[in-house]
Amino acid sequence: MPRSSLKTNQDPAELHKFSALAHRWWDPNSEFKPLHDINPLRLEWIDQAASLKGKLVLDVGCGGGILAESMAQRGALVTGIDLADKPLGVARLHLLESGLSVDYQLISAEDMALAHPARFDVVTCMEMLEHVPDPLSTIISCAQLVKPQGHVFFSTLNRNPRAYLMAVLGAEYLLKLLPKGTHDYARFIKPSELARMARQSGLVPEHFKGMGYNPFTQRYFLGQDTGVNYLLHCRRT
Ligand code: SAH
Repeated sequence: MPRSSLKTNQDPAELHKFSALAHRWWDPNSEFKPLHDINPLRLEWIDQAASLKGKLVLDVGCGGGILAESMAQRGALVTGIDLADKPLGVARLHLLESGLSVDYQLISAEDMALAHPARFDVVTCMEMLEHVPDPLSTIISCAQLVKPQGHVFFSTLNRNPRAYLMAVLGAEYLLKLLPKGTHDYARFIKPSELARMARQSGLVPEHFKGMGYNPFTQRYFLGQDTGVNYLLHCRRT
């Protein structure tokens, strides 16, 4: 199976975008507000499916550590990896404030998989696949990193006219929830494509969950509608 190297499966412009904003990562009213707002929902969903307490967890594309820290808070032993250095610096600093413990490393999923195959009970890779040139390579790495029977969770954006309207025009231009240019529509991934890539990587897709946003109450919620934002829970065979 062809594998992307660290050099090819990253987009420097994407990594720069996240580094430039990194100092605001933990400001709940910043560009990262959506990540703060969705975190309790996805954390609860992951914890219910995988019982985080005491588990060895890897968070791929962890950024400033919003999800990684919250999983550590639930008693998981968390490693967070990313290829943008500034968000990792912010993540490490934030541990001083929270008093939690997370092992943050600047390493690609591909290299981590070579170094630690079948190491983790749970691998999470949230809101990251739509920022990489070769999502299949990342998914293969996640599958290699998790133990047999282990859990892998992905979240990303669907690709259809409604997703474009909501996630690009709505969130970036109309509601200004995200900076313009945050998302590249061409990199959005249909649930059928994500499921196919997961199967190709030796994972069994188990549950899809949709994530919606109500602009009137300004609240996110989990439901059945995977038309825009969605999550997938897989198990390794
Ligand atoms: N997963 C976190 C952060 C999402 S933002 C959360 O959901 O809270 C997307 C993150 O993916 C950023 O931190 C960015 O630096 C990271 N990223 C983008 N391309 C990457 C790559 N090729 N390898 C590792 N991380 C990457």
